[in-house]
Amino acid sequence: MERIYIKDLKDRIGQEITIKGWVDVRRDQGKLIFFDFRDASGKVQGVVLPNASQAHEVGSKLRPEWVVEVQGKVNKRPERAIQKDKQNGDIELEIFAISILNEAETPPFDISNEGREIGEETRLRYRYVDLRRDRMQKNIRNRHKITQFVRNFYTNEGFVEIETPYMTKSTPEGSRDYIVPSRVDKGKFYALPQSPQQYKQLLMTAGFEKYFQIVRCFRDEDTRGDRQPEFTQIDMESSFVAQEDIMAINEKLIVNLVKTLYPEKEIQELPFPRLSYKEAMEKYGNDKPDIRKDKNNLNLLAFCWVIDFPFFEKTDEGGWTFTHNPFSAPKPEYMNNLMDRKDIGDIVADQYDMVLNGYEIGGGGIRNHTAEALKKVFEIMGYTPERIEKNFSYMLKALSSGTPPHGGLAFGLDRLIMLLQNEPNIREIIAFAKTGEGRDPMMDSPSEVQPEQLLELGIKIELPKK
Ligand code: ASP
Repeated sequence: MERIYIKDLKDRIGQEITIKGWVDVRRDQGKLIFFDFRDASGKVQGVVLPNASQAHEVGSKLRPEWVVEVQGKVNKRPERAIQKDKQNGDIELEIFAISILNEAETPPFDISNEGREIGEETRLRYRYVDLRRDRMQKNIRNRHKITQFVRNFYTNEGFVEIETPYMTKSTPEGSRDYIVPSRVDKGKFYALPQSPQQYKQLLMTAGFEKYFQIVRCFRDEDTRGDRQPEFTQIDMESSFVAQEDIMAINEKLIVNLVKTLYPEKEIQELPFPRLSYKEAMEKYGNDKPDIRKDKNNLNLLAFCWVIDFPFFEKTDEGGWTFTHNPFSAPKPEYMNNLMDRKDIGDIVADQYDMVLNGYEIGGGGIRNHTAEALKKVFEIMGYTPERIEKNFSYMLKALSSGTPPHGGLAFGLDRLIMLLQNEPNIREIIAFAKTGEGRDPMMDSPSEVQPEQLLELGIKIELPKK
């Protein structure tokens, strides 16, 4: 018989139907056995009456999380048994027959609640069970809605989603790279991208004008509670734009997204207030200020922009390094300072961050689109001409091949979803997250590899002496 989704049973009152799914709960009352069944679309209560002998025999064996096919009739519940606030609270399945599609071991933990009391290592080890709980189903399904919304939004605005390589070249961009050894070119390595920054700029050179991508980024950063070795960005870039244009379109994206998918949430102030880096530091002591007027209100979203960041900061060794991104441009009025290497500490970058409730959720900049200006940035950072040539010659060449003025922004998608879902960390909204230490207890990674694999790559492991 055709399988009916549990959410559609309400339209089948009086009919004999088949559902497929999981045993959520079993309440055996001897003569009567009650069940809650669950599929991807919801839950429904079923009952085996004493005269349904096959169903009774199989039903008394069933345990939570067994996978079953159930035949029965959809009945309206008597008035006194109606549970108004529950999905399918006004119907009940009268079960005629049950077949077991697969048995299940006793689950490692309870999935009927939010699961916050369970150790995270255990939850991640049995993630495929953990993800069955309502909260996690909602988080992951809403994540899908958000990514779909973002895709549609940019597409409607004329942007093209373009994939960029994951196996690429190590460049000094801020954090440590994850590297991948080459078998063919022994001793050489690819790097996983910390972001598609250079590729998206090269796509501007290539004439696409409006690019976006929902893309994985990889950064090997020291263990910090809420970091993941891989995380997802909503990445975008556009040609012939100024700071205002990039801020406007991304503010529109976020406002529309919240209004459409989270209508219960309140945006504290529209348009998003703007603070200069200096103001933010003076008033709030940091560059991602939490400007919420009421920190107890779960549904209050206090967005703001932080702008006018210093381009460079002093390194411990007394040199200069970029604060955000070596590819940013100075604000037009500081271009001469950059080119003349004058008052370097005063140069303000054409750089903007979007902040939500004290978290940086996005950041971007207008880029240096001439080779001369980008070269200056590297020179100020003390790179030798050889190093510039070795690491960035393609970028400088591209900028000299007809690159339009351009700029963009990237959102940390995980953080944004975490805040919208009122979750305390990004592991709750990533299907297969790693622990805070970057381990995957389910797959057991990272792990050792076969000696032959290392031999093939020409790699010898020398562990530091303990
Ligand atoms: N690539 C930058 C980052 O990952 C974002 C941007 O400037 O577009 O932070």
